[in-house]
Amino acid sequence: MKIGIVGAGMVGATAAYAMVMRGVGRQIVLVDLNQKRSAAEANDLFHAVPFANPLQITAGSYADLAGSRVVILAAGVAQRPGESRLHLLGRNAAVFRDVVPRVLKHAADAVLVVATNPVDIMTHLATIYATQAGHPANRVLGSGTTLDTARFRTLLGAHFGVDPQHVHAYVVGEHGDTEVLTWSTATIAGMRLDQLAAYRDVPFDEQVRQRIDHRVRHAAYEIIEGKGATYYGVGSALARITGAILYDQRAILTVSSRLENVAGVADVTLSLPHLISGSGLVTTLPLKLDEAEQKALAASAHVIRQAIDSLNEI
Ligand code: ADP
Repeated sequence: MKIGIVGAGMVGATAAYAMVMRGVGRQIVLVDLNQKRSAAEANDLFHAVPFANPLQITAGSYADLAGSRVVILAAGVAQRPGESRLHLLGRNAAVFRDVVPRVLKHAADAVLVVATNPVDIMTHLATIYATQAGHPANRVLGSGTTLDTARFRTLLGAHFGVDPQHVHAYVVGEHGDTEVLTWSTATIAGMRLDQLAAYRDVPFDEQVRQRIDHRVRHAAYEIIEGKGATYYGVGSALARITGAILYDQRAILTVSSRLENVAGVADVTLSLPHLISGSGLVTTLPLKLDEAEQKALAASAHVIRQAIDSLNEI
C-alpha cells in the first residue's frame, strides 16, 4: 500500500511520521522540489520505523509515485515579507498547476488529498486541474475541517467528561475564520448537548459555547504565535484520512470537496461531513442546521467563492 507525499516540509513530513506511528500503509514516497530536504526527511523518518511500524520510506521523483493509492499534496511556498495573501495564493496556484498533472501522469489512480493552505481554495484548484487531466472529481479532497472537528469534539468531551470518540459534532465550512461549529446537531449518546447538560448537571450556557467556539476557531493562531507553524494536528488528520482511503473504511470525515451548491453559493469548495471509501468521496451528507448556522455556512461559502473569483482576476 503505497502513499505519495508531494511537499516534504513540516506538514508533509509530519503526516509521514503520523503514518509510521499509526501503521498506515506500507510504503511512503516523499517528493519535494528541494531534494536534499526530502532525502533527509525520508532518512530521518526511516529511523523511527524500528520503534513503530514496518513502513518503507524513500525520497523520489514524480515517476516514483507510480502505484500510489493516495497522494498528499502538501507543497507550497512561504509568504514573502509584505506579500499579500492573494499574491501568495497566486504563487501557490502556480505550484499546483504544475504539480497536479505531474502526479496524475504517474499515479493516475491515486486519490489526491490536499493539505496546502488555504486548503479549501487549493482543493478547488486541485479539483479543476485534476479533472482537466481526466481525473474523477470524487478522487480529490482536502483535509478541510477534519482537524477542527477533532478539536471541537475534544473540547466537548473534556467539558462533559466523555471520551471525545463518543462525541458527535462537526465543524463545517471554511477551514479558517468563518468555519461553523454545528452546535444544533451535536449529540452524545444520542442526546442533544442541552439535554445531556441538564441530565448530568453540567453548565452549558452561552458563555460555555463561546469559550469552546473561540478555542476551536483560534487554535491555529495561538499555536502559530507560540511556535510559528502548526503541523502535528494536521499531520495526524492526514494520516487518519489516508487510512480511511487505503483501508476502505467508509469513514465520515469533514473533508473539503468541490460542491455544486452550498447554502445558495454555486461551485464552491468547503467542508461538510463526507462518506469516504477506498475510491475517495462517496457522498456529501447534508446536516440539518438551524437558521443561524445555515446563515453562517452561507457566509463562509461566500468568503471562499470570493477568494476563488479574485484569484481568477489576477
Ligand atoms: P508547511 O509548514 O506547510 O509544510 P513548508 O514550507 O515547511 O510548509 O513546506 C512546503 C514544502 O513544499 C517545502 O519543502 C517546499 O520545498 C515544497 N515545495 C514548494 N514548491 C514545490 C513544488 N513546486 N514541488 C514540490 N515541492 C514544492
